[in-house]
Amino acid sequence: MQDILTKITYGLYLITADEYKDNGCIANTVVQVSLNPLRVAVSLTKTNLTTDMIAHTGKFNISILAKTADFKLFKRFGLQSGRNADKFDGVSFERSENGLAYITEHSIAYVSCRVTDSIDLGSHTLFIAEPCEGKILSDAEPISYDYYYNNVRPKPQQTKKSGYVCKICGYVYEGDTLPPDFICPLCKHPASDFEKL
Ligand code: FE
Repeated sequence: MQDILTKITYGLYLITADEYKDNGCIANTVVQVSLNPLRVAVSLTKTNLTTDMIAHTGKFNISILAKTADFKLFKRFGLQSGRNADKFDGVSFERSENGLAYITEHSIAYVSCRVTDSIDLGSHTLFIAEPCEGKILSDAEPISYDYYYNNVRPKPQQTKKSGYVCKICGYVYEGDTLPPDFICPLCKHPASDFEKL
């Protein structure tokens, strides 16, 4: 089933929130789900600090990422936790009317959202939200997950050793068998996101 589901096309987005500090994470699951009333949805891993902040504050910003976004940006916001890093340190950003930060580089537009419903899906929380305000920032092309996978993330090193590579961040596990409960030490994705080299 996972093989079939990976054929679904996604974009890539930075979701920002703010409780006691500015924070954010990368998501591929932003979609407009209703027209009247206007609603968007985003599904986020429950262990993310950003998810906690949105659950507590009921607001977030979506930055629609451009094709110019480099691996540095994905590493900064996607492959480390806001619990032990200041993800906004050194990043160009401004604040929207809701007071939350939005990045001003590698972003096509931002949308400020107010949560109207949230659904506990087990590993993830699905937030349904009203888009309240936003701005177009650039006419650059949006980045797709496919483009990120093929052109932005580091390519796995050529090696004669047997192993498995993380499809999300490129981390290589060396060995004949990947333990089923293995968690990627870089991006924290599970064994199901690895493929055999
Ligand atoms: Fe990984």
